[in-house]
Order: sequence, then structure tokens, then C-alpha cells
Amino acid sequence: MKCRTCGGKAVVNMRQHKLALCKEHYLDWVPAQTARFIKKYRMFAPQERVLVAVSGGKDSLSLWDILHRLGYQADGLYLGLGIDEGVGYSAESRRLTEQFAAQRGLTLHVVDFPQTYGQNIPNLAALTHRGQGRPCSVCGVAKRHEMNRIARDMGYDVLATGHNLDDEAAVLFANTLAWSQDYLLRQAPVLPGHDGLARKVKPLCRFYEKEMAAYALLSGIEYIYEECPFSVGSTSIYYKELLNQLENTRPGAKLSFYLRFLEARESGMFNLPEDSPPPLFRCPTCGQPTQYEGKCSFCRMMEKTETP
Ligand code: SF4
Ligand code: ZN
Ligand code: ZN
Repeated sequence: MKCRTCGGKAVVNMRQHKLALCKEHYLDWVPAQTARFIKKYRMFAPQERVLVAVSGGKDSLSLWDILHRLGYQADGLYLGLGIDEGVGYSAESRRLTEQFAAQRGLTLHVVDFPQTYGQNIPNLAALTHRGQGRPCSVCGVAKRHEMNRIARDMGYDVLATGHNLDDEAAVLFANTLAWSQDYLLRQAPVLPGHDGLARKVKPLCRFYEKEMAAYALLSGIEYIYEECPFSVGSTSIYYKELLNQLENTRPGAKLSFYLRFLEARESGMFNLPEDSPPPLFRCPTCGQPTQYEGKCSFCRMMEKTETP
């Protein structure tokens, strides 16, 4: 297999794009495509300050690397969740993230959840009786709250996450199975900010997971291979496997599922005024935006952990 650009030996063959590239041209192609998606979906302008949520995994570290290479002002935010018992997942992911930032001279903000709030995420889930053994819903509330807090307090224009096509297609599949119109409407490469809620963007949403793994590997990025131990056996992993089976027999099916959805969404198929989301209220405790009047879900959750 030969590189389409230079005719040299290809190291990556993307059947879904009918494109094979050598290492050098693959490492050019990924940032160039990312720049194209940032522009196409109007994610952010060159002068805007970007906060990248980094977990130590291949997607978020690659995203930070790409934005840095493209010349954007991109700083990182690492959230230490305290998922360490027996596995050391948080400690290792933090070490790799700090090492990545130090090697490139990048600014990294670290919020250590147990240190800041006195509880790690698994304990918080147990104390609030949420999640039935899996702390993911508690974790999601905590992560959203902290990402928005840091973006707002530190004056960032936009919050970027490393969701790839496999992540987006799995979420889309779940929401389509349930025909959850609300969730379908909220799935997009860009969610505009409003009422104190940061704009959220997903610059990698059109890259296959294996494309990002190849990018991280070929760029020499050291990342944590293990997924969070609580993701094992999750529905989203099951949906990813199903979509991979489909992709194996029909290369490009995953990308087309996602892109056709974006087109349908753009054409108003879901029939809701996407550009005018309902106004948000302000949480009286933390000042963050919230969907309903009164305390936000994060503050309500934290209240339950307080001893009377
Ligand atoms: Fe949090 Fe881990 Fe669940 Fe992801 S899998 S939401 S990191 S607890
Ligand atoms: Zn080449
Ligand atoms: Zn609050």
C-alpha cells in the first residue's frame, strides 16, 4: 500500500475514506482535517481561548496536541476523580497528563475532586445512592459542573472535549433506539454557550477511534491505555461493538450514520427551535446555570453528603 501524497510506504489505510498515508502525511492530514472541521462547524476563532478537557487518554491528549500544533491558545483541564482503589487509574492518568503538558510547556489546570470536595467519585455515588454500583451519573454531573466552573472562572471562550466518531455514533445509536428527541437535539459538534453555560465543541467528532489511536501512536504521545474501570460492561461499549460489526462489513457506515444525522438535524427534521434553548436559572449556592429554579443538580448532590 502506497501513500497517496508521496508514493512512499503507507502506514495507515483508511478503507472508509479510500485513503492510505505514510507516517509524515498522516500526521499532517489529521490536524488539517481538524482545522477544516473547526471552521466548517464554526467551533471557535483563532483568537479565542480554548480549554481542553484532558483525561490522559489518547483522544483528549491528541486533541490538545493538534490544537497546539495548529497554533490555537489551548490550555488543559484535568479532573482528578479519585478512581484509584486497586487500579490507580486516576493517579496514572494524571501523571501522564502532567508529563504531556510539561514536555510541551503547556498550561494545565488540575482540579482534584477529593481534595476540593472531600469525596472521591465512587464514595460520592455510594453516599448519594445514585448509580447502582456504577458511579457514572454522579461522575457526569461532577465533571460537567467543574468544567463549566473553570471555563467561566478562568475566562475561557470555549470548552473542547476529545469525543471521537465512535463515541458520537454510540450516543446517537442509543438516542435513536429510544427516539429521545431532547437528547438528539443536544447532540452536535458545537453546543452554543448561553446564560453562563460555556460553549462546548468536539473537534474530533468525525475521526474514527482507530484513527485517533494511530495519531497518538505515530506522534509518540504517551497515554493511559486502560479505560476507566467503571466503563467495563457499559451499554455504550456494547453499542460500540455493534457498530464495529456493521463497519467491518460496510466500511464508512458509522461515519455516514453520524453525518446523515447531522444533515437531518440541520434541515430541521426534529422540528424544535434549536437556536433558542429555554432560559437558564442561576443556582443560589454556586452561581452556575441550571435548568430548573433552585439549587443545581451538583449542589443538590453535594448536599446529600453533608452529615446533619
Ligand atoms: Fe466517570 Fe469512569 Fe463512569 Fe466515565 S466510566 S463517567 S470516568 S466513572
Ligand atoms: Zn507520504
Ligand atoms: Zn450549584
